[in-house]
Amino acid sequence: MTALHELTIAEARTLLDNGEITSVELTQAYLDRIVAVDNQVRAFLAIDDESALEQARAADEGRKGTISRAPTYRAPTKDEGRSASSLHGIPLAIKDVISTEGLTTTCGSRMLEEYVPPYDATVIARLKQAGAVLLGKTNCDEFAMGSSTENSAYFPTRNPWDLARVPGGSSGGSAAAVAASEAPGALGTDTGGSIRQPASLCGVTGFKPTYGRVSRYGLVAFASSLDQIGPFARTARDCAILLGAIAGADPNDSTCAPQPVPDYMAALTGDVRGLRVGVPREYFVEGLEPGVEAAIRAAIDVLREGGAEIVEVSLPHTKYAIPVYYIIAPAEASANLARYDGVRYGLRIPDETYWDELEKTRGAGFGGEVRRRIMLGTYALSSGYYDAYYKRAQQVRTLMRRDFQQAFEQVDILAAPTSPTVAFQIGEKADDPLAMYLADVCTLPISLAGVPGLTIPCGFSDGLPVGLQLVGRPFDEATLLRVGDAYQRMTDWHTRRPALS
Ligand code: GLN
Repeated sequence: MTALHELTIAEARTLLDNGEITSVELTQAYLDRIVAVDNQVRAFLAIDDESALEQARAADEGRKGTISRAPTYRAPTKDEGRSASSLHGIPLAIKDVISTEGLTTTCGSRMLEEYVPPYDATVIARLKQAGAVLLGKTNCDEFAMGSSTENSAYFPTRNPWDLARVPGGSSGGSAAAVAASEAPGALGTDTGGSIRQPASLCGVTGFKPTYGRVSRYGLVAFASSLDQIGPFARTARDCAILLGAIAGADPNDSTCAPQPVPDYMAALTGDVRGLRVGVPREYFVEGLEPGVEAAIRAAIDVLREGGAEIVEVSLPHTKYAIPVYYIIAPAEASANLARYDGVRYGLRIPDETYWDELEKTRGAGFGGEVRRRIMLGTYALSSGYYDAYYKRAQQVRTLMRRDFQQAFEQVDILAAPTSPTVAFQIGEKADDPLAMYLADVCTLPISLAGVPGLTIPCGFSDGLPVGLQLVGRPFDEATLLRVGDAYQRMTDWHTRRPALS
C-alpha cells in the first residue's frame, strides 16, 4: 500500500470514507513526514501539531455523526456546488500571508513576526467548515514579493528536487510542502505568478483562479488589483476539490464576484476532443530554455493526440508585461504597506516622535525587496510621474487584457510554459532584482488580464520539473481543470516524487 503521506486528497478521501484510515492517522503521517524532511526542505514557518491532531480527532468524531465544532462560517449551500465533506479530515498547509485565528501570520516579514490574527480569513473559515485539518503555515517571500522564497526574512525554502535550488516563489513553502509530501494540498497566493511559478519549479499542480473567484478577506494585501488565493496539490482533481471548497461570493469581500460556483468535480470528464487550444507564439522566444520548450511542445502533442485542435495565436502586447507589472504592483504595494506604521500592526521601535518611530520601525521591519517596491511604487504614484508611469501602465494593461479577449474568440484555452527556466540555484539571482523579475515573464500577462491559469507537471529538463500553463476564459476554471485532469489521465509526470531521505 502507498504510504499515507503519498496519497492524493481524492485517494485519502476514499480511504477515510471506507473507514480504512482515520484522520488522526493521516494527520500523524504528515506530521511525521514533516519531522523527517522539513529540516532539509524548510517549507514551514509554523507547525501546529497539537491543534492539527485535535482537529483530526474532531473530524474523526464528526464522521461518526457528532460534528462537535461550531461552524465558523455559514454553511455552504448546495447550489454553490461546494462539497462540504470532500475535505473532511484532510490535512492542508497554508501560506503565511493568509490570516489564521490564533496562529502566527508573519508574511515572511520581521514586521509581523509576533502577529497573531484575531480572526480567520474567509478561505480558512471555509476549509474549517469543510472539516479540513490545518497543519501549519508555509514560508514565502516577504509580503509575497519575489520569485524564489529567498526574500523570506526567516530562511530560504529549498526545492525538494535539488536542495541547492530555489522552490520558486513567492509561495515556495506551499509548493515545496506538497512536492516533498509534507501535505497533500496547500493554499498559496498569486499576484504575478506566485502559485504557478513555484508549482512548476517543484513539479506539482497549482491553480490561480480568475481575479474575483476567491474571497480575499483576511489575506494580507500586496497588490489589490492582482492578488488571488488558490490551491496547490498533486493533481488537477485535487485542485478541483480545494477550489470548490474556497470559491464563491463573500459578503466580507466586495471584490469577490457573485458568479455561481459550478461543480468542478462533475467537469472532470477526461475528454478534450474538439477543444481548441491556442499556442501563443510570443511565449516561445529567446530566454526559454530548450529543455523546457521540448517538454511543453511534447505536452501540447499529448493534448492533440487526445483529440484537441491546436492553433497558433498571438498576444501581441506580451512584451510589456514585466514593465507594466513592475509599475502597477509596486504602486499598489506602496499604498497597502503604508499601514505598517509601528502603531497599528506588528513591530514597533519606540522613539521620541511619531516620525522617528515610523522611520525606525519601517527600516527595521522591512527587507530590501519590500523597501525597493515601496520606493518604486511611491515614485510612480507621485504627482508629475503618475501620468507618465502609473496611468500609462494601466492603459497598456487594458491592451493586454484585449489580447486575451481576442484570443478567446478563436480558442477555448491557451497552452504555454509556466516558467522560462527550471529551478535556479539558491543565490543565483538574489542580488539581481531584474534577473529575478524575468522569472515571471510567462505568468504576469495572465495576472494582469485577471484570467485563470493552471500549471501541471509535464516533464523534466536536466532532472528538474517543467510545468505546462493552461490559461482560460474568465470564470471558466472548470474547463482548465477538465483539461488538466484529462492530461494527467494520459501521462504520469504528476506522480513522480523527489528522492528525499
Ligand atoms: N514574483 C512576482 C513578484 O515578485 C509575483 C509575486 C506574486 O505573485 N506574489 O511580484
